[in-house]
Amino acid sequence: MNPLRIAIIGFGKIARDQHVPAIAATPGAVLAAIADPNVSLVGMPHFTTLDELLRSGPPVDAVAVCTPPQVRRDQAAMALAAGKHVMLEKPPGATVGEIGPLLTAAAAARRTLFAAWHSRFAPAVEPVRLLLAGRRIAAVRISWKEDVRVWHPGQTWIWQPGGLGVFDPGINALSILTHILPRSLFVTSADLGFPANRDAPIVATLRLADAAGLPISADFDFRQTGPQRWDIDFDTDEGPVTLSSGGAKLSVDGVPRVEAAKAEYTMLYRRFIELAAAGQSDVDLAPFQLVADAFLLGRRRTVVPFEDAT
Ligand code: NAP
Repeated sequence: MNPLRIAIIGFGKIARDQHVPAIAATPGAVLAAIADPNVSLVGMPHFTTLDELLRSGPPVDAVAVCTPPQVRRDQAAMALAAGKHVMLEKPPGATVGEIGPLLTAAAAARRTLFAAWHSRFAPAVEPVRLLLAGRRIAAVRISWKEDVRVWHPGQTWIWQPGGLGVFDPGINALSILTHILPRSLFVTSADLGFPANRDAPIVATLRLADAAGLPISADFDFRQTGPQRWDIDFDTDEGPVTLSSGGAKLSVDGVPRVEAAKAEYTMLYRRFIELAAAGQSDVDLAPFQLVADAFLLGRRRTVVPFEDAT
């Protein structure tokens, strides 16, 4: 089978850190071109827009859309209309409603639309899913706290409408939880702290539940200095279970069970290739819906202005 020729659209942090090495490490995938207004890669055909790439670039079969979420829909629609398979970085867009028409377009064009939830491919996620399937869960606590100045320096889009603020990393925790728990989740309350000078929250506290009344709390905070936390704690009938380091580590009753290097993006590309070969789409909106509902239901507070440079 010919390799899937992929163009990366939006050549920022995640494209450089993860997509380029993952494509290079995935049999059946090859990087063919890049579209980004400013950034290029030595030896790779570069175009400042997707439109220009599609009109005058080398042939590509697929695009990985790694731009900020606010501009993704137009790009995905353009790529599907040109007959390309589309991988959407997380979150899949700026609104929940914009994804339905993209799925319709993908089906009409017999192309793949893949909403990539990379955290679901972290090494301890499948082990914890299997473990929890055999236990009764009494409570779940998410603690997703990182320093925005370290992880998102200069990313103005993250503070603009549609940029999600602290939900940009927080949605990763929700993508894991919605994948490993047996029942659908819903938001019961939310408290959102918006910096006085920004349009997206810097801190959020959520309460969620499922139909059986499982209590779930989520603390998302972009102001964390010192140790960074990407943890989910489960109280179970057989003792505590902790998924930590964004899904890289699992401990059961305080004893480490899984600790492995992440290869999330290689797994994502394997999945993308499978989907493209089968002409199928894979779009789960559950994590995105929870974030949208937190915005709908959330009590809003104004907190101190946020300045990027310190
Ligand atoms: P980023 O570093 O700001 O990169 C985004 C890139 O897209 C920038 O180079 C930007 O150029 C470019 N761009 C903006 N508008 C464009 C357009 N219309 N056409 C082509 N390129 C355009 O952001 P990032 O951290 O890579 O994140 C991008 C997405 O990936 C976000 O949704 C994020 O949630 C997701 N993600 C990020 C991480 C992470 O660790 N950073 C991890 C997983 C997923 P300008 O800067 O010149 O505008």
